[in-house]
Amino acid sequence: MELEKVLKEHFGFQSFKTGQKEVITSVLSGQHTLAMLPTGTGKSLCYQLPGLMLKGQVLIISPLLSLMQDQVEHFKKFGEKRVIALNSFLSADERQNALHQLNQYKFIFISPEMLLVPFILRKLQELTISLFVVDEAHCISQWGFDFRPDYSKLGEVRKKFGNPLTLALTATATKKVREDIIRSLDLDEINKIESTIDRPNIGFYVKELLDYREKQGIVCELVANLKKPGIIYFSSKKMAEQMASLLAEKGICSAMAYHGGLDQNTRILIQQQFLYGQLDVICATSAFGMGINKENIRFIIHYHMPMQIESYLQEIGRAGRDGKPSIAILLYTPGDEQLPLQLAESELPSELQIDWLFKMIDEKQILKDGKITLDIKLMDLGGFSEIQWRIIEDFVINSPLETISLKQLQILIKEFVQERLTIKKNNIYRMKKWVESKFCRRENILHYFDETLLNRVNKCCDICGLQIIDYQTSNSSNDTFVKKTEQNWKEYLAKILINSELRE
Ligand code: ADP
Ligand code: MG
Repeated sequence: MELEKVLKEHFGFQSFKTGQKEVITSVLSGQHTLAMLPTGTGKSLCYQLPGLMLKGQVLIISPLLSLMQDQVEHFKKFGEKRVIALNSFLSADERQNALHQLNQYKFIFISPEMLLVPFILRKLQELTISLFVVDEAHCISQWGFDFRPDYSKLGEVRKKFGNPLTLALTATATKKVREDIIRSLDLDEINKIESTIDRPNIGFYVKELLDYREKQGIVCELVANLKKPGIIYFSSKKMAEQMASLLAEKGICSAMAYHGGLDQNTRILIQQQFLYGQLDVICATSAFGMGINKENIRFIIHYHMPMQIESYLQEIGRAGRDGKPSIAILLYTPGDEQLPLQLAESELPSELQIDWLFKMIDEKQILKDGKITLDIKLMDLGGFSEIQWRIIEDFVINSPLETISLKQLQILIKEFVQERLTIKKNNIYRMKKWVESKFCRRENILHYFDETLLNRVNKCCDICGLQIIDYQTSNSSNDTFVKKTEQNWKEYLAKILINSELRE
């Protein structure tokens, strides 16, 4: 059947978005495919559509629970019920049921952790996997900004399925990361489909400020005048909350904060309000955005410098999906790299924590097969965050203790942590270099992804002469509004800044 017909009949879309048809054709012709297409271009369709046409089942490895749930809902919306997500959201009973009738599903989403559970892997091996999909494939590479140790084992797992047809999807991967993906998955013959990461309708603007205390005032001014809706990204939950209150209280716009510290229901509610236009601005941490499809976001402001260019690109990429002019503004004060540097360290277990843990693991915990059981109580006792604990767990549980000693394992973990830290720091300095550079920002960011700028746009970046005024509402005689409120917010700021540190 003609692909366009399937697209219309099953998905209700009139035409393919850029890159989709190429990827789908490649997969349907039986070639392993690596597709790098920008966020929001509809990468999911690249396995949904072939999945319907191929005989066997589609296994999709996805790193985030929320993304998986999103995709399942999406499937159900277009009437496909043969879909399941195997993750920790399922109760033991539900999981048991699902595993007993796996062959009734056409699309099976699974987290990498769950895929590595031997019992589940065996169950999946009984199926005929016609397409093995690795979503957010950059997580495979230790050079990727979002490296997941579990992902690095996907190559082995793939072999256990007998080298099935594979589709790796990502929005942001440097050349080095793309090579790593191919190597890790052991895909020798692969068709690479890489669209440009350039988003010509998004203008770049870096605004350098002398003092971070100026930032809140500037944000009020910008938000009052810029066309909305918009997102302001923060590295601190507390700052996100303060800014949202400030914007709302001063009547500048409707705004709410969104971060990982809020409960699930509140997060869903805020997200929905924003999607349906009841909120002008979201003050968010990086927890907000994955899977958000809002077409008309007009600005993205970064209050803090992101930890790497890849996340920056993903975050600004949420603007202007409708193709209309949108702006990405980054506020920068010299020394702003300190916060991401602190965050990078806090994401990894410290030497002290590692030493403490190994004192607590006694030889009795080493089981006959050479594995260690890690008591979850140690996580709290040792003050490990969830991210830190995942790194430790991954190492300890998967180490072959028949061949290495506990002492060696301890050294290996420390080396790994050091390596990760160096990579993270380099990423932060690379981001800072971009911010401080006096070269065209678009060219510079493309260069980072080994691309050259082919079409220079009119409204490019601050270096090329872009002006914020072009992104303001036409009645931006809002100047008077800003002046009127200026005194108010200065007083308000003075109050809250007393106890606000650039930390959570
Ligand atoms: P990505 O994974 O690339 O970020 P998604 O697969 O989540 O993007 O899709 C983004 C949005 O685009 C979804 O709402 C999806 O329904 C929509 N979409 C996908 N393909 C098309 C198409 N051909 N035409 C119109 N909308 C599409
Ligand atoms: Mg996606």
